Amino acid sequence: MATRVSSIQIVRRITLGISLACVTVLAFLHQRLQGIPSIDAIDPFGGLETLLKFIAGGDLMKRLEPGTIVLFGAIVALGIVLSRFFCGWFCAFGALQGVFGWIGKKLFRRRFAVPRRLDAILRWVKYPLLAAILYFTWRAGDLVIRPYDPMAAYGHLSAGLTAVWAEFAVGLVLLIVILALSMLYERAFCKYLCPLGAVNAILGRIPVLRIKREASTCISCSKCDRVCSMNVEVSEAKVIDSAECIACMECVTACPTKKRTLSATLGGKAVKTVTIVVIGFAIYIGAALVGQGLGMLRFAPKSLIEQASVGTLKIEDIKGSSTYETVATSFGIELERLYREVGVDAKKVPPESMLKDTGKLAGIPGFEADAVRVAVAKILGLPYAGEKGNLIPADPAAAAAPKPAVKTEASLVVPADFALEGTMSIDEVAKALKASPGAVIKKLGLPKDFPPDKPLRDMRDRFGYTMPDLKSKIKE
Ligand code: SF4
Ligand code: SF4
Repeated sequence: MATRVSSIQIVRRITLGISLACVTVLAFLHQRLQGIPSIDAIDPFGGLETLLKFIAGGDLMKRLEPGTIVLFGAIVALGIVLSRFFCGWFCAFGALQGVFGWIGKKLFRRRFAVPRRLDAILRWVKYPLLAAILYFTWRAGDLVIRPYDPMAAYGHLSAGLTAVWAEFAVGLVLLIVILALSMLYERAFCKYLCPLGAVNAILGRIPVLRIKREASTCISCSKCDRVCSMNVEVSEAKVIDSAECIACMECVTACPTKKRTLSATLGGKAVKTVTIVVIGFAIYIGAALVGQGLGMLRFAPKSLIEQASVGTLKIEDIKGSSTYETVATSFGIELERLYREVGVDAKKVPPESMLKDTGKLAGIPGFEADAVRVAVAKILGLPYAGEKGNLIPADPAAAAAPKPAVKTEASLVVPADFALEGTMSIDEVAKALKASPGAVIKKLGLPKDFPPDKPLRDMRDRFGYTMPDLKSKIKE
């Protein structure tokens, strides 16, 4: 007979499903569109890694944005109050393992268990692994585990197997092994390897959330043991304080006694299961609101054009998702010159192509966006420490050389037939006039912090201008 699933568990499954779906869709879109966060930027563990670099060098890691730190902050708050609640309720990789675990149950119609002794030893592996990752990340100031990260490999699957294999060969093999193992041993990665799970387990040592078992009403049916994906021996414990408990509440909701034999307690006081769930969501939402208030809830980098218009553009800001067109426009370089320096044919790789697609389009295996950074540094005579140690020294002559084809602020030329529309943004005007956004902002007499991506007509009240004003200014 099919077991009835409680409404709390339906909510949990839906939440995990949404989490996995969001990560999968974002990862897919990131491969195709600019301005979509990468899988690295939405991984809370990256928040810890980039915090280390921030503390050591005052800089965030490449590929990560301040929003990743907000995510990690939410995990810490959740971990302190609700132990591994994140693992049980929000983690996309936990959800993915859950899907394969479910497939395994349907296929094999039985549960497998790693022999107890071996299981006990393996569960310790994640702690030294966490320590090693943090140590090497601190030393290198980079995402050292990225090529070995199965979730990073999963997030890049939509780029095609060849691309994933080139960048994440180890991560891809691990992904396959972990998902295959998850069909036999539920949440194998969570139990033995996950560094974020280890962080949560350590935070969960603070005894705030605990599940208690009332022995006098327990009928020893072992249902709680059977539903626990982390193999915690619930039916033998008085208080479940295992570092492995992911606060999924499956045991509590599966207990057939109606006498609250199993109940969640917060700080020693029994609370309803739904209270735990509400607190868990509130912490996550609260962290997002705090992050928003601090202006840190950003997961995708600012566009090159935006950076150029506020004068903060650096060579390092060029990403694999930047296009040749935006690189040339924002750095004020002739497109032809950029193509020449990079060594690719514009017919094969059109200007609107993302840099990361160059290899595929031009048939250059192993092509990396860093080649474009190096080219821009050479053209502009700027110093740049390339990713492969290909250091480009500053070249004062190149830096001083005129950049002919790109209109400077002083030389912005507006054709007589150009019509400025209220629906246009500064970026669009700049593109139409082949000028930098900064030049357009200056020409229109707007403040430097004017948002370059907003339609002009939407900003009238905020910046106190009229469209006829702007139309006459652009023609001056
Ligand atoms: S242990 Fe790691 S992979 Fe598993 S649910 Fe927790 S964070 Fe996710
Ligand atoms: S002990 Fe209960 S709450 Fe903890 S992981 Fe197992 S089933 Fe979930």
